[in-house]
Amino acid sequence: MDLNRIKFLVVGCGFFGAVIAERIANDLNEKVMIIDKRPHIGGNCYSEKDEETGIFYHKYGTHIFHTSNKTVWNYINNFTEFNGYYHQVLTTYKNKVFQMPINLETINSFYNINLKPYEVDNFLKKEIAKENITNPRNFEEKAISMVGKPLYEAFIKGYTEKQWGKNPKDLPESILKRLPFRKNYNESYFFDRWQGVPSSGYTEIFNKMLNNKNIEIKLDKDFFDIRDSIPDSTFIIYSGAIDRFFDYKFGKLDWRTIVLKKRIAPVEDFQGTSVMNFAEKSIPYTRIHEPKHLHPETKYWNEKTLLIEEYPKSDDGSSPFYPINDPKNKKLFAKYSAEAQKSKNIIIGGRLGDYKYYDMDKTIEMALESYEKRIKRRKGKGKKN
Ligand code: UDP
Repeated sequence: MDLNRIKFLVVGCGFFGAVIAERIANDLNEKVMIIDKRPHIGGNCYSEKDEETGIFYHKYGTHIFHTSNKTVWNYINNFTEFNGYYHQVLTTYKNKVFQMPINLETINSFYNINLKPYEVDNFLKKEIAKENITNPRNFEEKAISMVGKPLYEAFIKGYTEKQWGKNPKDLPESILKRLPFRKNYNESYFFDRWQGVPSSGYTEIFNKMLNNKNIEIKLDKDFFDIRDSIPDSTFIIYSGAIDRFFDYKFGKLDWRTIVLKKRIAPVEDFQGTSVMNFAEKSIPYTRIHEPKHLHPETKYWNEKTLLIEEYPKSDDGSSPFYPINDPKNKKLFAKYSAEAQKSKNIIIGGRLGDYKYYDMDKTIEMALESYEKRIKRRKGKGKKN
């Protein structure tokens, strides 16, 4: 590959990189190269068909697109249609299935009572008062101060310990913001205005976004193998791990990853839902995905179903999925971030570049913003503020 003729080099073909490449190619009408060390486009959103069952699945765990950002929703709809899938999650605790996120049905079923919505506050207040937490300072205290100890210990503690490999006392309460809690019977997992699964899969979105003669894609290509031969004048959009970019010079950030194990069950429907969580610590996986349920519009004519068990584990930097935003890592990230601000001709972003627990919509929002501010305006084609 001739690196001398490339003006824009995008590293990583997930949403952050692909959106910026699409904008450079279509909006700016400039040439751009994308490289990815994996053999496929789409990053962690990559979807494919399982050969044995013909079922579409998401290779790196179930991805439900959800957003309340109209710009992002309009943007993504240029590249796909969404099916009518609406995300609900269930959780198994002591061999019984409960609704997740915790809502009135979960509470009533767990305590075997029949509270009305207007009685929930009083009921929980008594539970919470037992714990004497006046000023919650971490994930565990925050969770207990919201739902009381019994619900916390059943549905949150074990799952969180498995997911993060840490004592929840050492985790930031911000993670809890992802987990809704409701005092009514609304069991929707997301609060967002729009949600769904792309009818033809995520990979199709990337194919459409990147189908432009201005875009050249090189797969199985590791940035760190070619870095030394990239001219200084090349503008780099990097969406890999930020600590790796700076050769870990301040130390390694901690990441969490997951291992996904596929198996086939010889039944039409195994668990009746796309994602079943397992709350207890003694069960080694956090959830089982059954991707058949993500496509209610498709009739899969078979007596088999694909199941994917999810096992969290710590990451050595080779396959980072989740940033661990505790004080130690936040401090370290701040050093790398300051270094990134100083670097010319480089945008570092996305979940790995920003070390933030972004959902897909936030990643797209950040990519569109970075393009407008750092690339388009720089070229003098955008508004100046
Ligand atoms: N969580 C939990 N019990 C559950 C599901 C989630 O305690 O059954 C907590 C857990 O700490 C997790 C966080 O909520 O890390 C966010 O969950 P989410 O479903 O957003 O995780 P993701 O889908 O991003 O892996």
